Amino acid sequence: MEKELIRLENCTMAFDDEVVLDNISLSIRDKEFLTLLGPSGCGKTTTLRIIGGFTKPVSGGVFFDGVRINDMPPHKRNVNTVFQKYALFTHLNVFENVAFGLRLQKPKLSKAEIARLVDEMLEVVSLRGFNNRDASSLSGGQQQRVAIARALVLKPRVLLLDEPLGALDLRLRKDMQNELKRIQQQTEITFVYVTHDQEEALAMSDTVVVMDGGIIQQIGSPEDVYNEPKNAFVADFIGESNIVDGIMRSDGEVEIFGRRMKCLDGGFGKDEPADVVIRPEDIDIVPLGSDAAMLTGQVTNVTFKGVHYDIIVDFKGFKWLIQTTDLSPVGGKIGIKLDPDSIHIMKKSRYSGMFGDYSSYSAEYDDISDASLGEDDVEDDE
Ligand code: ATP
Repeated sequence: MEKELIRLENCTMAFDDEVVLDNISLSIRDKEFLTLLGPSGCGKTTTLRIIGGFTKPVSGGVFFDGVRINDMPPHKRNVNTVFQKYALFTHLNVFENVAFGLRLQKPKLSKAEIARLVDEMLEVVSLRGFNNRDASSLSGGQQQRVAIARALVLKPRVLLLDEPLGALDLRLRKDMQNELKRIQQQTEITFVYVTHDQEEALAMSDTVVVMDGGIIQQIGSPEDVYNEPKNAFVADFIGESNIVDGIMRSDGEVEIFGRRMKCLDGGFGKDEPADVVIRPEDIDIVPLGSDAAMLTGQVTNVTFKGVHYDIIVDFKGFKWLIQTTDLSPVGGKIGIKLDPDSIHIMKKSRYSGMFGDYSSYSAEYDDISDASLGEDDVEDDE
């Protein structure tokens, strides 16, 4: 594993007494692709600006290679930034846009050296042969590549990217995500990337930092934050999740809807209330009345999604999303089976009860306590 390059230590930021970053600590390794992910206003850009030196935290330390750089101005930091509005020089061609920063360097670079570096970087961003094209004649994706080449040609240790694909259409975004990942791996420059798009974060990053309300909620690999979310906010923000109340009866055994089920989690107090997350794609539909049926619910809504169906199923008034390739008609009852590894237990948090119910998905929102389900265990109700 590469060594730490940047460290934020207990950084707090406030504007007019309003705290927008609350005591955050973060370690960024050399050569990694790290993404700050969270909803609008959670503090992603402010964190990026602190790393770039455009904003100073009101308290806490910023370290680069172990050296405190709180007071170092942006141009002295070995960091470059690409913004969503990439602001190319539209009156210059592609070559001159990329060469711009190189021409300002001291000691002065030779013409031949500048041409070599620009060509090398245009190759990296797949724009070989575009040297003489006017920047204004390029597509959005091509312009963004020029902006990235312009930043990378100066060989910073770190590239900060603030929603750089935000202005592109969906298809182009997807292509550019792959490109960015490849460019990062090829150049071995540390990327710190800001987005509110969870799919983008999962697709590109080595490390995802999930933020909300100026607080880091979880730091981990894409697999970690998806499979082992720390709390209901992370579970809901990353992917689709059914989140229900549970009680940990013992290590490896949780009770939901009055029914005990095996799980893989432990370390909770006996009978500790917990949040239980079950991903829609991890739920198996089984024949009604079969021994395998752990819960029984009623289908209230079906949406064809191409590869699978999204079905909403009412379990005792709590509506779950299930993704399945089996068609289950609206109004029908189904049994479901949950394997131990499809049940993930989280500590209760201030987000408990706020997420994870799909009632609003269904036309029957107002009819939440369906009389046909009765008061007893739904699984006994055929
Ligand atoms: P977005 O995705 O919308 O850009 P973000 O997660 O990047 O959001 P920030 O831009 O870091 O969020 O903003 C965090 C909070 O700080 C917001 O409430 C914002 O209004 C506030 N804020 C940011 N910069 C300033 C400023 N210069 N003066 C006052 N408030 C600010």
